[in-house]
Amino acid sequence: MPRNPNWTRDELILALDLYFRLGSAAVSESHHEITALSRLLNELPIHPSRAAAQHFRNAASVYMKLSNFKRLDPDYAGKGLDAGSKQDEVVWEEFASRRDLLARTAAAIRSNVQSMGGHQGPQLIEEDNEFLEGRLLARLHTVRERNPALVERKKRLVLSQTGRLACEVCSFDFAIVYGRLGHGFAECHHLVPLSELDGTRAVLPEDLAVVCANCHRMLHRSRPMISVLELRGLLAAPNRDG
Ligand SMILES: [Zn+2]
Ligand SMILES: [Zn+2]
Repeated sequence: MPRNPNWTRDELILALDLYFRLGSAAVSESHHEITALSRLLNELPIHPSRAAAQHFRNAASVYMKLSNFKRLDPDYAGKGLDAGSKQDEVVWEEFASRRDLLARTAAAIRSNVQSMGGHQGPQLIEEDNEFLEGRLLARLHTVRERNPALVERKKRLVLSQTGRLACEVCSFDFAIVYGRLGHGFAECHHLVPLSELDGTRAVLPEDLAVVCANCHRMLHRSRPMISVLELRGLLAAPNRDG
């Protein structure tokens, strides 16, 4: 019988959020929030082969995961379950002191479930950026900022306003550096923080920033993701190491 796949960061974010929301309330496997999370985890397009696994993320396994967190919780008087994964600890470390971000991130995942396309939608790829906020929201970010119609609208708008497509971080202009080849080329970065992605609201041109490929990579490399303004600040900072 295939084993259940390990819990991913996205799943642990949802579980830890529920752990804190339930607080010290005594709950059982049949608590409605536990069964609701079990249903949600079965809907998320994270584990393509989950159907083959036994009792994938059923209420008992969600309940067990919440018990795993107890061992990491200094506020928990009992001992908690000894078992648990390294990844439980990582997610606990990162979010136990950032409960607000945790709650917003979990809410953003829930609010976007419909646009994730379920198991028929695009699968997460291992190499996808693993952000603090998990892969599901990171993929949505990428899908949104690569929406061809929206990107086209944004670029036309900026061209009509400024006459060029300069990077909003470093001012790099592909048309100036590469001549005709670079004409009309620029990337777009979605400005809404991952934890605030709202599945009920359409993406607008003002949600995007025009950036060069280098600056875009640097924005995606930062953990948590920094803003265009913050990256501009890094660029301007004199190098004091040398
Ligand atoms: Zn740039
Ligand atoms: Zn981006």
